[in-house]
Amino acid sequence: MIKEAILQFNRDVTCINFVPRNGDIDYVMIKNGYGCHSSIGRDGGEQVLVLGDNCFYKGVMIHELNHAAGFFHEQSRFDRDKYVQVNWENVQDGKQDDFAKQSPTILSLLGTTYDYGSIMHYGAKTFSKNGNPVLTPRYDPHGLMGQRNGFSKLDIWKLNYMYGCVKACGNDVTLPENGVYDMIQSPYFTQNYYEPETACQWTIKAPAGQRLKVNFEFLNLIGSEKCDIDFILINNETFCKKKPTKDFIYTKGSSAKIVFISQAGSGNKPGGFKLSVSVDGK
Ligand SMILES: [Zn+2]
Repeated sequence: MIKEAILQFNRDVTCINFVPRNGDIDYVMIKNGYGCHSSIGRDGGEQVLVLGDNCFYKGVMIHELNHAAGFFHEQSRFDRDKYVQVNWENVQDGKQDDFAKQSPTILSLLGTTYDYGSIMHYGAKTFSKNGNPVLTPRYDPHGLMGQRNGFSKLDIWKLNYMYGCVKACGNDVTLPENGVYDMIQSPYFTQNYYEPETACQWTIKAPAGQRLKVNFEFLNLIGSEKCDIDFILINNETFCKKKPTKDFIYTKGSSAKIVFISQAGSGNKPGGFKLSVSVDGK
């Protein structure tokens, strides 16, 4: 079954694979032991991935392999309090550390939204001492929290992005008084499609003390109401299909960080987006 889990990992993730050790200095040793756990990322030399007797589920093994590949639990994100509530009174003694948040210097969100359906997310009652939920989702309409069937789309995207298989694009622009920048668009926008596995980031700055107006000229990305597939993120606000009312938004401060994420897919996707940004000299 361990072999099967590795095969599944290698099939789902195009960017990195687990292969048999061939004289490598750094490697993962899979051992029987107590509990199911792994180091997060590369330790150097031999690092251990422990699979106890209760870990013999393919999804659990893929979860552990993904720790070795460098991923924390989804509920360790530093922004998790917006998405899940931790009921500390129900946490098993000694397991509090499992529900700690990781700082942005250790855990990069890779520009992604919170993913209840991640294989790295705990279930509601994982490490509960009394059968009551430890994690209460603030919204999770699909009840995905804690699934161990396999990678979510975002899990795969994050792996491919982190290991450098996602195309990158974007720009940093500082605008003068009354400046306008109208080159923020998905690659291939003029051809009415965009590619899978793309990440772009633009940082636009207005002169100090002035805000930016972000105009939505066109927006049509694949996604649900929650924009959990392909999306643009403007200072942490997510858009994919629906333009904001009035077709524009103002930034609170003098800069806009705009991230575009297109997840893996079997081919080019119809649509795209185009924005323009202007300095709002009130
Ligand atoms: Zn884990």
